[in-house]
Amino acid sequence: MAEAFDVIVIGGGPAGYPAAIRAGQNKLSVACIDQWRNPDGGYAFGGTCLNAGCIPSKALLESSELVHRAREEFALHGIKTGPVSVDLAQMQKRKSGIVKASTQGINALFKASGVTGLAGHGRLLPGRRVEFTGADGSKRELSAKHVILASGSVPVELKAAPFKAPHILDSWGALELDAVPKRLGVIGAGVIGLELGSVWRRLGSEVTVLEALPEFLAIADQQLAKEAARHFKKQGLDIRLGARVSAAKVSGDVVEVTYEDAKGTQSLTVDRLIVAAGRRAFTAELLAAGTGVELDERGCIKVDEHCRTGAEGVWAVGDCVRGPMLAHKSKEEGVMVADLIAGRYGEVNYKTIPSVIYTAPEIAWVGLTEEQVKASGRPYKVGVFPFLASGRARAMEQAQGFAKLIAAQDDDEILGVHIIGPMAGELIAEAVLAMEYCASSEDLQRTIHAHPTLSEAVHEAALAADKRAIDSINR
Ligand code: FAD
Ligand code: NAD
Repeated sequence: MAEAFDVIVIGGGPAGYPAAIRAGQNKLSVACIDQWRNPDGGYAFGGTCLNAGCIPSKALLESSELVHRAREEFALHGIKTGPVSVDLAQMQKRKSGIVKASTQGINALFKASGVTGLAGHGRLLPGRRVEFTGADGSKRELSAKHVILASGSVPVELKAAPFKAPHILDSWGALELDAVPKRLGVIGAGVIGLELGSVWRRLGSEVTVLEALPEFLAIADQQLAKEAARHFKKQGLDIRLGARVSAAKVSGDVVEVTYEDAKGTQSLTVDRLIVAAGRRAFTAELLAAGTGVELDERGCIKVDEHCRTGAEGVWAVGDCVRGPMLAHKSKEEGVMVADLIAGRYGEVNYKTIPSVIYTAPEIAWVGLTEEQVKASGRPYKVGVFPFLASGRARAMEQAQGFAKLIAAQDDDEILGVHIIGPMAGELIAEAVLAMEYCASSEDLQRTIHAHPTLSEAVHEAALAADKRAIDSINR
């Protein structure tokens, strides 16, 4: 007889493991299956985010930013050091330690909430049954009242530039380099291209980023994108827009890249090439015939706004469904579904999902861009506060960028907040909360912010929307 659970989750990344934990908290019997294997052959929960995405990239961003600051800023603070050099092996060891601690933490969380973690492959069969293949290849059948699919995503492989380690790398490979490449090419000036391009630039690579679109950071507010482009240029990132890669070939120990831009066919020689041209939903070997679960034209699992698939009792969450491919969006969907299954309230507010790019300066936003508000035709007002006017940012030697708030002219509703500057990813949380509670810009204006903190920038941006900023000139 099939082993039975209330809930089986296939995939233990940021969508799947929180779903399993919340199901456990809801007193449901739950199993979470994950097939992720690290290069040492060991299984690990945590998915892309913990093993090969958010966490290792942030560890390297932090280390490389410290190298940059030690070289460029310590002297300003009156701190004398000898020449600063990089021990990449130690940097990578630190990163791996953080990844291991994070993924092992999930085992402890599973234990605490009564989740059965199963290392191996899961395949949905018709009738909410799951075929589980363990590490030793043995198969057994499980059944559940509800199955949550959380199989995540994988990097898009370009026909023009197929992955070929150690020269042509995906984002995971780009996090594992054991030497700093002299010349590094990056395909795609998206989030991964900018974050990983920044890491290796700070560690000494000459970095060229080739972006097919003519506009830089087309998804972001364009005032913010322009400010970002200026900083990246100053940092030495050579970002070439309107540059579509048509071929990349390994030749000896280098990669010859061909791309098309407005001037015609161009070429570039690099030592390593990172392909960061997007990710796609991963559903290989996930669905047996006859499950009733459908995919859309982009290969994502089709779901409604509550993440129900077309099959009774089967749900899908995270990167394998529509919407932004973000860990926090994945987590909220997983938790929502586990609560709905338990008969509790569950909802994801897709309008207030924050985006953060962990470069220096950091970039973060929530809600609509000024371009989107303009296109909507709704009259609006804008407040901008430069970090140059923030005492805390100046004291930190980080007085770059600005906080920008867009509010409706009629009822003062906050429509969007866009921040480029120190700790933007932390500061945006206040704007998310404000928008979640439908706050007006006046609500933010009347909220006391501690001095001197970076959060005063958000306060002052709200004041500036009504030309009432105190610490900067109202324009
Ligand atoms: P995944 O994390 O991909 O997890 C899916 C899991 O399912 C995997 O462990 C996989 O092994 C398992 N699986 C799949 N099929 C099966 C099967 N049939 N049987 C068993 N197991 C299966 N997002 C952010 O919000 N912030 C960031 O800073 C950030 N940085 C990133 C940096 C990089 C370099 C990358 C690549 C991504 C980053 N992301 C970031 C995106 C983030 O990693 C994803 O949005 C997130 O991991 C999606 O979670 P998920 O659980 O849906 O999928
Ligand atoms: P992306 O969609 O952000 O950027 C890919 C870029 O590659 C696009 O700008 C696209 O125009 C360009 N491109 C595609 N084909 C090209 C070609 N042939 N030549 C030149 N340029 C080309 O994707 P990504 O950077 O790979 O990231 C994947 C996902 O991971 C994103 O959805 C992102 O949300 C997520 N992620 C998030 C974070 C974060 O939240 N900080 C960090 C990393 C990744």
